[in-house]
Amino acid sequence: MICVLKPDVSKAREEQLIAWLKSQHLDVHISRGEHHTVLGLIGDTTSIDGELIESLDIVESVRRVSEPYKTCSRQFHPDNSTIDVGGVKIGCGQDLVMIAGPCSVETEEQIISVANDIKKVGAQILRGGAFKPRTSPYSFQGLKEEGLRLLSLAKRETGLPIVTELMDIDHIDLFDDVDLIQIGARNMQNFELLKELGHVDKPILLKRGLANTIEELLMSAEYIMAGGNEKVILCERGIRTFETATRNTLDLSIIPVLREKTHLPIIIDPSHATGRAHLVPPMAMAAVAAGTDGVMVEVHNDPLHALCDGAQSLTPQQFEQLAVQMKRIKEVVG
Ligand code: PEP
Ligand code: MN
Repeated sequence: MICVLKPDVSKAREEQLIAWLKSQHLDVHISRGEHHTVLGLIGDTTSIDGELIESLDIVESVRRVSEPYKTCSRQFHPDNSTIDVGGVKIGCGQDLVMIAGPCSVETEEQIISVANDIKKVGAQILRGGAFKPRTSPYSFQGLKEEGLRLLSLAKRETGLPIVTELMDIDHIDLFDDVDLIQIGARNMQNFELLKELGHVDKPILLKRGLANTIEELLMSAEYIMAGGNEKVILCERGIRTFETATRNTLDLSIIPVLREKTHLPIIIDPSHATGRAHLVPPMAMAAVAAGTDGVMVEVHNDPLHALCDGAQSLTPQQFEQLAVQMKRIKEVVG
């Protein structure tokens, strides 16, 4: 962190600030120019409040040189991470991972038929919500425990690992058979939940919040990793903008930005990003072209009668076509 002092700061005030910075376990490198003194703060600045320092009347500006996160940062871990989800490897340099399945688990017939269909065309992981975060309390809230039981059944039937959302850490004992725990957009900054996940020995799919920056997403990953669980996969699912033609705006530039900033794997969810089934294939293909490690797509055997997110769900036939196209693009981009 670099701290530029205002011109003509008295020696006493400067020494006072330096003494305080040293009390925060930092070394201070002082460089004096003709008008300005520049303090280089050396050491672990992750817990230092740069805005607080900048608000001091003797300080002109403060700039971070290293990121405020550590464990998820590429600076501290230059090689890409690969995360194993029930035998499926997710990460840069691995095969494209296709996660597919309905928004919500509804019936045994539904989840088993979708699981078989997506497996046939090469999807490696089955998704399905059991605990659903719905905007309206009157909407379908998921089958909860029964939904998890049906997901396990589909896993046994097909051999596909399963991903499903956890909303409350008190439910964690029900998630024994779950291979990848999803933390939904609405809980991305539920810090108590994130801290608890730091002690869980399972990979976490962390979705970006509706109105969160990339740095905030990485800080949330850091919460989990700082607790000891380094198996975090990041998921872009669209952010809220002024645009109303799509459910959200898919921020595909997150892929190259995250590649620079972190070693963690990246999944793109074009279903929640667009909200319309016919918009899903082009954005899924664009995500593969931009270098995503995987995509997560909502697929339903009967979208018209889906209890949740039918408008954005592909039929198994549409997913089959998309799977072929994505594999072709992956072959080209490598
Ligand atoms: C989901 O994937 O089922 C979901 C609710 O997504 P999000 O948290 O991104 O809205
Ligand atoms: Mn959904």
